[in-house]
Amino acid sequence: MKVPILSEEYQIMIAPQGGGRMKSYRKELWFNTRTRRAFINITGQVEECLKESGVKEGLVLVIAMHITASVFINDDESGLHHDLDVWLEKLAPHEPVSQYRHNNGEDNADAHLKRSIMGREAVVAITDGKLDFGPWERIFYGEFDGRRRKRVLVKVIGE
Ligand code: ZN
Repeated sequence: MKVPILSEEYQIMIAPQGGGRMKSYRKELWFNTRTRRAFINITGQVEECLKESGVKEGLVLVIAMHITASVFINDDESGLHHDLDVWLEKLAPHEPVSQYRHNNGEDNADAHLKRSIMGREAVVAITDGKLDFGPWERIFYGEFDGRRRKRVLVKVIGE
């Protein structure tokens, strides 16, 4: 049983000691994009993981396991995805590849930089067995050096 405690600014849910046992769940999602760069809405896949985990209250971590890809949360709106791609390409253009010191035998320096801006992981609260999103929030995989198999780790913890 949970006891809600209300104050002016906060609503705090306190779970009494000796309640549920903490669960832990781990799954890898694999991607292989046809293009070098892509944004993929993975919210449905994360929701599937959450269902499989059986966790009702806790946290889900969604982590890009490669240093040239990101996981981030934003709006599922094609205009915004275009704007993000143009903005990232202005900040860290792919070409000329010779402008980057990292491109010594490889050509993905821009992808490392784009990943640094867009982030490594997203954390979402789980409330009552659901992803507890703000308005219009969705989870995306951001690929910046695709055309090969890459993975995202989903870790769910809670009870
Ligand atoms: Zn590299």
